[in-house]
Amino acid sequence: MFNVNKVREDFPILKREVHGKPLVYFDNAATSQTPQVVIDTIVDYYSNYNANIHRGVHTLSQEATDKYEEARIKIKRHFNAKEAYEIILTSGTTHAINMVASGFETLLSKGDELIVSALEHHSNIVPWQMLCEKTGASLKVIPMTDEGVLDMETYHKLLNESTKLVFCNHVSNALGTINPIEEIIEAAHKFNAAVLIDGAQATPHIKPDVQALDVDFYVASAHKLCGPTGVGLLYGKQEWLEKLPPYQGGGEMIATVSFKKTTYAGLPHKFEAGTPNICGGIAFGAALDYMNSVGFNEIAAYENELLVYATQQLEKIEGLKIYGTSANKTAVISFNVGAIHPYDIGAILDKLGIAVRTGHHCAQPIMDYYQIPGTVRASFSFYNTKEEIDVFVIALQRAVAMLA
Ligand SMILES: *Cc1c(COP(=O)(O)O)cnc(C)c1O
Repeated sequence: MFNVNKVREDFPILKREVHGKPLVYFDNAATSQTPQVVIDTIVDYYSNYNANIHRGVHTLSQEATDKYEEARIKIKRHFNAKEAYEIILTSGTTHAINMVASGFETLLSKGDELIVSALEHHSNIVPWQMLCEKTGASLKVIPMTDEGVLDMETYHKLLNESTKLVFCNHVSNALGTINPIEEIIEAAHKFNAAVLIDGAQATPHIKPDVQALDVDFYVASAHKLCGPTGVGLLYGKQEWLEKLPPYQGGGEMIATVSFKKTTYAGLPHKFEAGTPNICGGIAFGAALDYMNSVGFNEIAAYENELLVYATQQLEKIEGLKIYGTSANKTAVISFNVGAIHPYDIGAILDKLGIAVRTGHHCAQPIMDYYQIPGTVRASFSFYNTKEEIDVFVIALQRAVAMLA
């Protein structure tokens, strides 16, 4: 049975106060909190075996290399990649998307088409716009509906022989919508287009199986799933990773270097130039172990309870409008109350110890669709409670009374 009080014991930060009030942390879609086992892993690395990895002859280097490669295998297993070398460790989702976008520069030409969804984070829009500018390819958009759901009928009409790439998030960070990525991938493959799925917002709640999805690229950030910042993954099918040129030149990514000709290392090193975030990679593995020990089915079921409860409570507040009402969503609630500016609500909530995000959530096209400057976003994790939601709803009512 899922025991939230036991889980909360794992997170030291949940004991702190903010402005004299117990912290209520509802900004999980921006970054998650860190359990003690992951903190311990980081301390252990720097206390006991900090060294540069690969090719080191000495003991510390070998220990660090072993742990780093063990982490890669944990990540491979978690995402069910076929091979460990299909897991490229990156600095995060943004870095991973840029790697793929930059790699496609040599593979695209004028007349090629790319398809993006209306629900994307800026990091899954801007690198592709830059790619289009460089290659002459054009960008088409899958529109969204008032519920914050993708218009799949239009998607199917956008696909054609010129479509080379489709990219879409698995879950929208601004609205929580879970997108029908199975359908998106299958349809794109009928036209031989590659698909990149941004899993930054899905991976804290869902355990994706990249082989079952048959996805070409899947990217995510460790810091949203109980790991540290500055590390993430690019999963790529072997055939694609071999087709793409290296992203950066430097140490670690070469086979041989001479001034006449340099040859590149095999996967995954071809994409891992320079000293990586060694400690971060190892801690990413520890975070996945931790989340799996809690259990993704348990996490999803409990978070859904929080979502249903919070939605019911919030809907009682007069003038409150929720954006993103898909039947299929994660525990994210984006809302506004009347004409009150989201920032003003966020600032008062902070004084009451409650952390929410306000603004456009790096998804301005969604805000443009609704013709609003931004929203207040409360995003829940498996370590949050219904009692915290009660505290939040009372605080919100106070804020609204002050501001209305
Ligand atoms: C957080 C997020 C990103 C960006 O992740 P970084 O860790 O900042 O690189 C991209 N897409 C989605 C859907 C996100 O939630």
